[in-house]
Amino acid sequence: MKSDCITVIGAGTMGNGIAHVAAKAGFQVRLVDVSEDYLQKGLAAIQGNLLREVKKEKISQADADAAFARIQGGTELARAADSFLVVEAATENKAVKLEIFRQLAVVTAPEAVLASNTSSISITEIATATGRPAQVIGMHFMNPVPMMKLVEVIRGHDTSEATLQLVLDVCARLDKTPLASEDYPGFVANRILMPMINEAVQTLMEGVATREAIDGIMKLGMAHPMGPLTLADFIGLDVCLAILDVLHQGLGDPKYRPCPLLRKMVAAGHLGRKTGRGFYEY
Ligand code: NAD
Repeated sequence: MKSDCITVIGAGTMGNGIAHVAAKAGFQVRLVDVSEDYLQKGLAAIQGNLLREVKKEKISQADADAAFARIQGGTELARAADSFLVVEAATENKAVKLEIFRQLAVVTAPEAVLASNTSSISITEIATATGRPAQVIGMHFMNPVPMMKLVEVIRGHDTSEATLQLVLDVCARLDKTPLASEDYPGFVANRILMPMINEAVQTLMEGVATREAIDGIMKLGMAHPMGPLTLADFIGLDVCLAILDVLHQGLGDPKYRPCPLLRKMVAAGHLGRKTGRGFYEY
């Protein structure tokens, strides 16, 4: 096991961002995706984002090249064998994640720490699947990873102090600010954010105001950088709905019931930016 080697599972939006910041911080990075096509897209995204930082004079071309050279792509989980830390950022699907963690428990060194970037799945449940729950933890990065300072660090029921400390140290090396949460549905960020987005959708559905007025009121009145409907389109309406379902089921309180308009838009395939249409057109 190498003390400077981190594996990131999933080369999508979050995974390529996590690989980017880890490589920039000097870690050797293994970036693993099931799909060669998504892997190549992820690597291309990292290269493009590093180039943007060079153009903005945030880093030199030489440092960007050196960071990119520290990333090795692959499609096999066994790539994680020499890493002291694995950060999983695969698709938000419980069965997929449980299977990845079962396999990680086999292919990684016994002392390696296994982290998940999940937005809503129980860290404790993921930890149980590995048979070594003391070394499993949540590392919830924010999107876009290279720009956002926060990492919400989630301690599962049996996560050890040593695991927590290791992850806090890594966050510091990544120039991120970790803030700790216990493992309850939605952790902190989504437990507070998603009810606000849900209420904005309900407000729209009831015809209280137009989409522009709802977003404008929250931007200008509350100094939010983005209105809640714009933010929902950015996150993906399917992702918002899935997280609200987790909150609703996990906490059992009707205040988390997803708004029927949100459900209807997801059923219609209008998922926000990624499909060209959500509360706005793109
Ligand atoms: P994404 O769809 O952009 O990327 C997911 C990637 O995982 C894809 O490239 C897919 O090919 C890959 N993948 C699927 N199954 C895999 C497997 N078995 N092994 C390896 N790779 C596999 O998703 P994303 O938006 O990057 O989200 C990833 C995780 O991060 C999710 O758990 C999500 O909830 C969480 N998250 C997302 C955001 C966000 O704003 N997008 C923010 C915080 C956390």
